[in-house]
Amino acid sequence: MNRARIHWISGPVLRARAEAGAAFAMREAVRVGPRALLGEVVRLQGDEIAVQVYEDTTGLAPGMRLEGDGLPLAIRLGPALLGHIFDGLLRPLAGLDTAFVDAGMRRGAAREFDFTPAVKTGDTLTAGQVFGQARAPRAGESQGEGDGPGAAAASAAGMAGATDGAARPQPCLLPPDAAGVVLQVAAAGRYPDSQPLCMLRQSDGSERQVAMSHDWPVRVPRPVRARLPAGAPLVTGQRVLDSLFPVALGGKAAIPGGFGTGKTVLLEALAKGSRADVIVYLGCGERGNELAGVLEEFPQLVDPRTGGPLMQRTVIIANTSNMPVAAREASIYAAVTVAEYFRDQGLDVALMADSTSRWAEALREVSGRFGELPGEGGYPAYLASRLADFYERAAVVETLGAGRGSVTLIGAISPPSGDLSEPVTSHTKRYVRAFWTLDAKRAQARFYPAVHPLQSYAEDARGFAGWWAAEGNGEWLTLRKRFLTLLDEQARLERMARIIGKDALPLRQQLALASAELINDAFLRQSAFSEVDRVCSPARQGAMMRLVAKFIDHAEAAVTAGLHPQQLASMKSLRALQRMGEEIADDQLGRFAELEAAMDREFAALASPQATAEAADATER
Ligand code: ADP
Repeated sequence: MNRARIHWISGPVLRARAEAGAAFAMREAVRVGPRALLGEVVRLQGDEIAVQVYEDTTGLAPGMRLEGDGLPLAIRLGPALLGHIFDGLLRPLAGLDTAFVDAGMRRGAAREFDFTPAVKTGDTLTAGQVFGQARAPRAGESQGEGDGPGAAAASAAGMAGATDGAARPQPCLLPPDAAGVVLQVAAAGRYPDSQPLCMLRQSDGSERQVAMSHDWPVRVPRPVRARLPAGAPLVTGQRVLDSLFPVALGGKAAIPGGFGTGKTVLLEALAKGSRADVIVYLGCGERGNELAGVLEEFPQLVDPRTGGPLMQRTVIIANTSNMPVAAREASIYAAVTVAEYFRDQGLDVALMADSTSRWAEALREVSGRFGELPGEGGYPAYLASRLADFYERAAVVETLGAGRGSVTLIGAISPPSGDLSEPVTSHTKRYVRAFWTLDAKRAQARFYPAVHPLQSYAEDARGFAGWWAAEGNGEWLTLRKRFLTLLDEQARLERMARIIGKDALPLRQQLALASAELINDAFLRQSAFSEVDRVCSPARQGAMMRLVAKFIDHAEAAVTAGLHPQQLASMKSLRALQRMGEEIADDQLGRFAELEAAMDREFAALASPQATAEAADATER
C-alpha cells in the first residue's frame, strides 16, 4: 500500500508527500482523506505527488492522508451497463436529482444476472473470447441488490432504466489480458456480475478467475487484432448528414455550434435515430436541466429497429456542470472505454459527447490549479494531444474475439461566441473526418438542423458511392455534387443580388437561386420533432434527392423554353416537394412515384398549353 500526507489543496487538486516506502505511479488511483474520495495521481516529482480528486473536496485538510494500491483508475465493464445512467466514473446514478453518488464509492453494487456458460472444462480460450451469456432477470423476478455502499443507488438506477425485462442476452468476454485453458466454469444460474465464474490456467501456469464483469483502466485503449479500413457510412437518419456530409461507421465527426444553434437537439436526434447497435451518450458539463430532458425522454422512447425500448441499446454517462470538475475530465475516457467494450462484442457503437468544450474547460481548470503554463486560450499545451487521443479511439476493428466491431465518435463543440478559430475547434478539426458546422443565422431563421452546407465537410464521402448504390441510389455522388455546387452558387448569387437586386440577375442565375432554395427547404430542412421526419431512411433520402433533382431538371428545361423562374413559385408540385419530408413516411415510398408523375404532368402542361387542361383535370382528380 502506498501512503502520502496532504500538504496543499486547491479545489479539485492537491499535493501530498509520499511516506517512506511508498512508490506511487502515474495515473494510480488513490483514496483521499477520511471519506476515501476517489482521486488519481497526475504528477510525480521526487517524493511529492499531485492528485486530482473526482469528488467534492470540501472538508479535506492538510495533514490528512491518501493511499493507493498501485492500480490505475479503472471502471467496471459488464452486463450492468446497457439501459442505465452513470456518472463520469461509471458509478450508477438514479437520475439527476441524485447526481452525487456516495463519496468514496468506487463502483455500483454488484447486480445479478442469469449466466449460461458457452465453454467447458478443457477448452482453450483466447483473450476477448466469449465464455458465456448474461441475461438480466425479467422484470418482477427478484433482483439482488448486492451489498456495500451505493446498493440503493444501484437499484434505483435499475429502475431508471427499467428496461431489463425483455433485454437480450449479452456476451461475457474474457478481459483482453486473460487467456488459457478452462479449469472450471460455473453451471447455468443466477450470479452477481462480479462473482468469478470461469477459472483459467494461463500460459505462464498462473490461475485466473473471470467474472461476467471485468475492470479496465479508464485511460488505456482496449487492444484489438487489427484496425480495418472504413467501408460504410454510419446511417444517422439526418438527410443533411447522410446525403451531404456522411461520417464513416468507425469514423469521427464534430459538431461545432454557438449557443442555441441546436447541438443538443441534433446529438439527441443522432442518439435516437442512428443505425448503431449501442449508443453511448455522454452529457459532459452541460447544465443539469438540459440533460434532464435526455434522462426523462430516453426511457420512454421506442427503438424503431427492434420495437423495444431505446434505452436497451443505450448507456448514458452524465457529468453536469454542477458535478466535480475533475470527474468531467475522466468522463470522456470512461465513455469511450464503454464504447470499446461493446465494440469488442462485435457491435457497431456510436458515442455522442456533449460537449467536448466543457471537457476541455475542465482540463483547463485543473491545469490552472496546478499552475501550469497556459497555452492558447488558457488551455494547457497538451489540449491537442488529449483531443487526438480521444478521437484516435474511433475505428472499425477486428476484435480480439475475431469479430468485427466499430466505434464512431461524434463530439459537439461549443466555441465561445461561435468563433470557430478558437483552440478546441481548430484542434478538433485536425482529427475528425466529418465536420458539421451549425450556423447561428440558420438557427435564428429556425432552419433546422442548422448545418451550414458550405462550412461543413466530409472527407470520406467519395468512398460511400458503392454503399449508396447498393441502397438503390447509384447517382448519389453525382446528385450530392450537384446539390453542393448549387448551394455554393447560391451564396455567391445572394451576395450579388444584395447589390444589384434579385430581379436584375440573369434568368439562369435566378433559377439557380430558386433551385438552391428548393434543396434547402425540401431536402435539408428536417425537424427533430416531427413524428414522420425525425428519422429519414436512406431509401427515402434517395427518393427525395432524385425528386428534387428532377424538379430542377424540368425547371431548367422550362426556363430554356421561355418560362420565367418566378413562375415556378406558384407550381403545385413545388409546394408538394417542400412538404414531402413531413408528409411521406418511410413506409410510404410509393407516394414519391405519384408525386413524380404529378410533377411530370405539371411541367408538361407548362410546355404545351394544350396539355394544361388535362393536367388541371388530373390534379383535380
Ligand atoms: P445548443 O445545444 O446548441 O445550445 P439546442 O440543441 O438546445 O442548442 O437547441 C436550441 C433550440 O433550437 C431547441 O430548443 C429547439 O427548439 C430548436 N432546435 C434545435 N435543433 C432542432 C431541430 N433539429 N429540429 C427542430 N428544432 C430544433
